[in-house]
Amino acid sequence: MHTVAEALEIVLRHAQPLPPVNAPLGPEALGLVLAEDIASDLDMPPFDKAMMDGFALRSGDLRDGQAELTIVEEIPAGKTPAVEVKTGQASRIMTGAPIPKGVDAVVMIERCELLGNKVRVNDPKVLAGLNILTRAKEMRVGEVVLHAGARLRPQEFGLLSTVGRATVRVQKAPSVAILSTGDEIVEPSVKPGPGQIRNSNGPMLLAQVTRAGGVARFLGIARDEADHLRTLIATGLQNDVLLLSGGVSAGKLDLVPGVLAELGVEPLFHKVAMKPGKPILFGVKQSKLVFGLPGNPVSSLVCFELFVRPAIRALMSLPPGPCWVKATLTKDYPYRSDRPTYHPARLQITDAGRSVEPTAWFGSPDLRGVLPANAFVLLPEGDVTHRAGDTMMVLCVENDD
Ligand code: AMP
Ligand code: MG
Repeated sequence: MHTVAEALEIVLRHAQPLPPVNAPLGPEALGLVLAEDIASDLDMPPFDKAMMDGFALRSGDLRDGQAELTIVEEIPAGKTPAVEVKTGQASRIMTGAPIPKGVDAVVMIERCELLGNKVRVNDPKVLAGLNILTRAKEMRVGEVVLHAGARLRPQEFGLLSTVGRATVRVQKAPSVAILSTGDEIVEPSVKPGPGQIRNSNGPMLLAQVTRAGGVARFLGIARDEADHLRTLIATGLQNDVLLLSGGVSAGKLDLVPGVLAELGVEPLFHKVAMKPGKPILFGVKQSKLVFGLPGNPVSSLVCFELFVRPAIRALMSLPPGPCWVKATLTKDYPYRSDRPTYHPARLQITDAGRSVEPTAWFGSPDLRGVLPANAFVLLPEGDVTHRAGDTMMVLCVENDD
C-alpha cells in the first residue's frame, strides 16, 4: 500500500498541463495561467499627464514659491491642450489631462487662489516635474508587460485591458465530471426511503472542483449495476478528469474498479495508507485522470484535497500543493490508529503564531463534525499522546490560492 506522498507523486506524474486555449477576459479566465508573453501596443501614459487637479505652470515663474499668473486655458481629461503657456501664464488642468506646451509643473488646486482670470500660487515645494507623469514612464510600446506563466488576478485583467487585450491565450481549466454511485443514494431533493441516504458527495465535489479552478459537470447517480455504471463512466471519460464517489471498497457491489478496467482505464493505485480514505483508486486512460473516491463523505472530502485538487492545479500549470503548515497543538490529544489520520481541526493564526485544535469527530461518515474545522491535523500512526505545545503538520483546505 502506498503512502500519501507516494500516491501524490504518481498522480502528479500523470497530471501534465493541458494544451493552451484562447479565452475572453471574462470571469472564467480569472485564476488561469497565461500561456503567452504580452507586449504593450502603446506608451503608457500615452502623453505627459497631470497627476493632480490644479494649475500647469512654469516653475521658473515662482519667487519663493509664489506667483500671480494669468489663466490662458482650462484642460479637462480627454481634451488636447490648444494653447502654449508662456512666462507669467498658467492653465487650469484636471487629473489625467495632457500637459500643455511650455509648462514643467502642476501645482495642486489647494495651493492656488483664484482671482478672476488670474491665479495666485503659493507653494514653496514646486520643482520642475512636480505632479507630471511623463509619457511611457509606466510602459513603452512593444515592451513585454506580462510573461507566460503569470496567473490572471484582477490586476492582470486591468493591465491586459490597458494594452488592448480582450482575449488571451491561457492554460485550459480541466473539465471534471462527477459521478456518484450507489443503489442507496438519492438526489438531495428527494426524501430518503428506508435504507436510502441523500447524495451529499455530488454537490460537495462540485463545489470543491469549482473552488480548485476546474469546470465541474455532474453526471448524476449510477446504480450498483455494471451496465448503468459503464454507460455513465464512458460519458465521464470524455472529460479531462472523472471523479467517482463510492463503489471502490471491497464490497460485493463495489463494481467501479472492474468497470473502469473494462473501459481501458489503467489502474495506478488502489488503496493508500491513510484515514479516512484508504480505498481510493487512481487510474488513467491516455491523458485522462480517473479518481475513485470512497463513498463516505469525509473520505471523499479529504481525498479530494490531498490528490484531486493538486491534480487539477497541475493540469492548469499551477503549483499543485497541497498546502501544509506547522502549528502548535493547543491541548493534550491521545490518539491511536493503524494509519496516518487526517483529523478535522481548527487552525488559528494569531500574533503568537499558528495553533491547531482537533475538533470533535466520529469518523469518515461524520460530515457534520467537519463543519467547525478549517483544516486537517495529521496524526501519525501508532498509539501516541500528543502534548499541548507539540508541533503538528496541518493540511490547509480553506486557501483559494
Ligand atoms: P461505498 O464507498 O460505496 O462503499 O460507500 C461508503 C459509504 O458512503 C456508504 O455508507 C454509502 O452509503 C456512503 N455514500 C456513498 N456515496 C455517497 C454519496 N454520494 N453521498 C453520501 N454518502 C455516500
Ligand atoms: Mg456504494
